[in-house]
Amino acid sequence: MYSMTRGVDAKHRDLADRGAEAARVAEQGQAALARIFAEAAAEGMHRVAELASPSSREAELPFRALAAELGAAMNMSDRTVQRRMNDAAVLEESFPATFNAWEEGRIARGHVAVIMEHGLPLTDPDARAEFEAEALIRAEGTTPGRLGASLARLAESLQPRPLAERHKEARASRGACVRDVGDGMAEFSTIQPAVLAHAMHDRITQQARAIRNADPTDTRTLDQIRADLVADMLLTTTPSVETGAGFSDGFGGLGAIRGIVNVTVPALALAGVTDEPAELVGRCPMDPATARQLAGHATGWDRVLADPITGCVLAVDRYTPSADMKRFLRARDQHCRFPGCRQPAHRCDRDHTLDYALGGATDVCNLACLCTRHHTLKGETAWTVRQLGGGVLEWTSPGGHVYIDKPPPAIHFVPNTDPPPF
Ligand SMILES: [Zn+2]
Repeated sequence: MYSMTRGVDAKHRDLADRGAEAARVAEQGQAALARIFAEAAAEGMHRVAELASPSSREAELPFRALAAELGAAMNMSDRTVQRRMNDAAVLEESFPATFNAWEEGRIARGHVAVIMEHGLPLTDPDARAEFEAEALIRAEGTTPGRLGASLARLAESLQPRPLAERHKEARASRGACVRDVGDGMAEFSTIQPAVLAHAMHDRITQQARAIRNADPTDTRTLDQIRADLVADMLLTTTPSVETGAGFSDGFGGLGAIRGIVNVTVPALALAGVTDEPAELVGRCPMDPATARQLAGHATGWDRVLADPITGCVLAVDRYTPSADMKRFLRARDQHCRFPGCRQPAHRCDRDHTLDYALGGATDVCNLACLCTRHHTLKGETAWTVRQLGGGVLEWTSPGGHVYIDKPPPAIHFVPNTDPPPF
């Protein structure tokens, strides 16, 4: 057990500080390279425009010649260079402030990629500019992974067409395809409504864990077991390992395991009064019709009361210690609360921030979701954490750096000022 008054680990701190500085310099180098690609793209397009009457076959040639020039000098394929020239041109044109922040080393290439991914579908220039300004505020101090989830919701709130309408169209593009990837391997993928895709992935993950727990001699990785399960189920319809016995944790065979997804629906959308999007928690916005359908089949609902402005969870209905506390924590934390981690809450442990043995209360002000990896890190190393109230965690690294991790806002819907219909 490490005491709160221990000294700073100077070697930890030195490595963290030099690492952060080197990463910042590397990002500035990447951004400078992207700026050259953008300039090359502009030059290439200028030369294409100068062609008197280009046939379609010739139209791209000056652009390609320039891409090959850069590629040969950098030991990169000209196709790669051409793609990066196009990307850099789009970044410069559509997200100028993001480009600047990257050049200043304030954000990394991963952040730039998620800002482009979620911002490009916004075709309205005002909406996109609003998105970019807010995205840059959210990007600093968080990982690309967490930023992506937050930006998916932000972009959704700025879309002029309601999600219900777009989802109806998008469902038509569902499908399954196979693609060869070499070495006698191929990738099988399927495009599904998000709620089904996440439920499918969660179900095979639970089954894979059950298999691994039941047989410690199984040396396959979790991913390998997932892949074997998918092949097994798709080719035989039901899992052939479904025996109904041998799972000490009470699973009645793998077939009994159901995928879990957490869905948040605004009360008025659930009642069918409005068409605001629901949310597949921590993943993406979801169309309200699917959410209402799921609600009809759900065995129970937790009503989560959230602050309409900040989105912070204030309370959960039927709150009593134990089961309701778990529901509250799952709603408040959504994922592991170590900085940057996105392991979903239903796969996390509930950690006593101040150890129970040291007098820490079993109370939401002293509990937080931590995945196994970060639970261990907190318990067994010099990383420490304390709660600042409202679910806000303050982590201190062995090197003495302090990181604030706030619970993700649960509800992102602008409150309607009309009186409720019930
Ligand atoms: Zn974690």
